[in-house]
Amino acid sequence: MSLTWMRDGTSLFLDAVDHLGDDDYAAPSGLPGWTRAHLVAHVAANADALRNLVHWAATGVETPMYASPRQRADDIAAGALRAPADLRFWAHSSAAALAGDLGGLDESRWQASVVTAQGRTVPATEILWMRSREVWIHAVDLDTGITFADLPTDFLTRLVDEIAARRGLDDVPAGPLADVAAYLAGRPHGLDAEPLGPWL
Ligand code: ZN
Repeated sequence: MSLTWMRDGTSLFLDAVDHLGDDDYAAPSGLPGWTRAHLVAHVAANADALRNLVHWAATGVETPMYASPRQRADDIAAGALRAPADLRFWAHSSAAALAGDLGGLDESRWQASVVTAQGRTVPATEILWMRSREVWIHAVDLDTGITFADLPTDFLTRLVDEIAARRGLDDVPAGPLADVAAYLAGRPHGLDAEPLGPWL
């Protein structure tokens, strides 16, 4: 299921990127302090970083996503200064390279342990889910009209379960699934509840 989510979410995200005009990149995204250029740079850099985890799973050689949190932030800041055509190309080429690497992962390596940027040890199969979250949620953050209600129901269900658990919330406000997911992700939502801080 995660592979389908990753493919579909990547298509949605890249399609939204392709519809941005050059002037749209400097406009604010849905994330505080980030332009759309920051967001596209982050999603492209995320694909590159996840390729490190695929390499780790394939070879057993420890290759973290990022050298440090500082490197991650610096790469986003530098990437945001790239020309729109470069960002568009980077978004596409990094996503294609990640898909290619995953396609080449031997059946036996999918359960190999890798460590995420947050320090969690997970099987390589989790890379699909990690990428799915990035492309779907940041497609909304691009602020081109895509909303949580446009995301697949089964994806939103897993997302709600995961974030509620990660935030340690036993009680989640009632409401439409898309709004509950947006609320938990710290994005604009239609629930009668105080906003949470951004997640991801
Ligand atoms: Zn992200």
